[in-house]
Amino acid sequence: MQLVILDRDGVINEDSADYIKSPEEWIPIPGSLEAIARLHHAGWHVVVATNQSGIARKLFDPDILMRIHEKMHRSVSDAGGQIEAIFFCPHGPNDNCSCRKPRPGLFLDIARRLRISLHGVPTIGDSLPDLQASQAAGANPILVRTGKGNGALIAHGSSIDVPVYDNLATAVDDLLAIRYRDNSTV
Ligand SMILES: [Mg+2]
Ligand SMILES: [Zn+2]
Repeated sequence: MQLVILDRDGVINEDSADYIKSPEEWIPIPGSLEAIARLHHAGWHVVVATNQSGIARKLFDPDILMRIHEKMHRSVSDAGGQIEAIFFCPHGPNDNCSCRKPRPGLFLDIARRLRISLHGVPTIGDSLPDLQASQAAGANPILVRTGKGNGALIAHGSSIDVPVYDNLATAVDDLLAIRYRDNSTV
């Protein structure tokens, strides 16, 4: 099974310092929906893992998050793609939970639920915590420059030792090219 785990805000949709608190505020990054569709057509399973501390901060409730995710599912499927599951952490930074990235809980939950190893599984994120959580879970972190990505590179560039892409579309192009090359040499 070919699995890729995506962060949500700043990878699939435009991030906001004010949080994404309504379906109206959920705006896809150009090319991201089509990138998910390309993964789907190539047989990849796409799962989302996202910190949503806006719930703990009482900026929105789980019902609203559900409606935001309905919009995301609908938008992806209108583009010809599919998101199989969304794993989210509803906690705040002081809740000391095991699922808020940089902790690996969300990724480990995905591995348990799908009964797979995360070894070699690419994860695509736009922040340092995304990379750290992925590394801690034994997956293969990838950084995109959208969302917080450029800022993370400016602040921590010298310590970031993972593949970097301009956006989800170019990261996916490379994933699919690598997969094709691997298959063609078997
Ligand atoms: Mg993000
Ligand atoms: Zn959590």
